[in-house]
Amino acid sequence: MRVYANVRLWNGVAESYDQADSIAVQGDAIVAIGRGLDGEDCRGLTVLPGLIDAHVHMVLDPALSSAAEQVAEQPHVVRHKMVARAEAMVRAGITTARDLGGGAWLELELRDRIDAGDVAGPRLLCAGQPVTSVGGHCHFWGGEAADASAAEAVIARQQEHGVDLIKLMATGGMLTPHSQPKDAQFDQSTTSAIVAAARARGFGVAAHCHGTAGIRHAAKAGVRSIEHCSWIGPDGKRGDYDPDVAREIAQRGIWVSPTINAGWARFGADAAAKVTAHLRALKESGCRLVASTDAGIPRVRHEDLARALPVFARLAELSPVEALRCATSEGAAALGLADATGTLHTGACADLLFVRGDPLADLAALLEPAMVVARGREYRNGAARGAQPG
Ligand SMILES: [Zn+2]
Repeated sequence: MRVYANVRLWNGVAESYDQADSIAVQGDAIVAIGRGLDGEDCRGLTVLPGLIDAHVHMVLDPALSSAAEQVAEQPHVVRHKMVARAEAMVRAGITTARDLGGGAWLELELRDRIDAGDVAGPRLLCAGQPVTSVGGHCHFWGGEAADASAAEAVIARQQEHGVDLIKLMATGGMLTPHSQPKDAQFDQSTTSAIVAAARARGFGVAAHCHGTAGIRHAAKAGVRSIEHCSWIGPDGKRGDYDPDVAREIAQRGIWVSPTINAGWARFGADAAAKVTAHLRALKESGCRLVASTDAGIPRVRHEDLARALPVFARLAELSPVEALRCATSEGAAALGLADATGTLHTGACADLLFVRGDPLADLAALLEPAMVVARGREYRNGAARGAQPG
């Protein structure tokens, strides 16, 4: 057993720090949280749950600017880069990430290697090939479907490969030539049939949605999360917010994952004001937000969630503690992992982020973790130590 003592503790939910000042870990689990336990003196450090990025693509290299370049990469090169990305993520405090798409299930292979303790990295939930229309957004990943029955075959193929959830491209996207973010890729009945087919196999659906029509289809179909949620109207611009759709999202308990990365800090005043107005209206409707970055797309590095959070907080008008909940307890709930991670409680996995400074006052404290523990494995001073037996 390892005990981290004299540490300031935030449990992932509360408005302020905990009364407890010690946390005990055995193997990969938290076995006690209390006061005055005997252990390693962690004076000056604050411990919080490991961070969760609800939208990443492990196979994508953020240094490449086009889909054609991404697809042309050799699998052995991609595998090699993915291992480095995973280690950088966990060292930056990300202990869980949801992977929302690749073409060759390489991210599932990585997930399994991380689970086996073979390589360092966050816990991954993986969607495999996204279901998309023929020639639609990210069709090059192999998940094209002309209708509901073809989509069911795509879903069955993902299940054979061992995915954790299904990704649906409900609208077009930016990365794919000739794809329009404003356009819905499937009509309402097809979208509903796809989501029902996924659910029948035990999978939740994360729906990529830029245009309002696609957001509406996804909400009515009962997806688990809406990614991006850009409210792009028929004119191709942000601003087509629909309060009825927002109410539906809230009533069905669908999470909104706005994929705000650090680069959004450079948005002009008009664009930022639109994003803020939409997020404010969503919150007022009772919608729940999770932190996500779409890591892997051009210039969005996998380890940069902590750099994105202050930008997310500013655009979504969140206090530091609210932003941190989106990246811990809310993220875990959205991913169906609330028992395992996202909050510090006895019996949870030991996913811990130790930082200097006061993260509930200033999110910048997250930028240089002093130590990270991911499912019991400890990372500090550039070194990893395995989960200690006994
Ligand atoms: Zn994405």
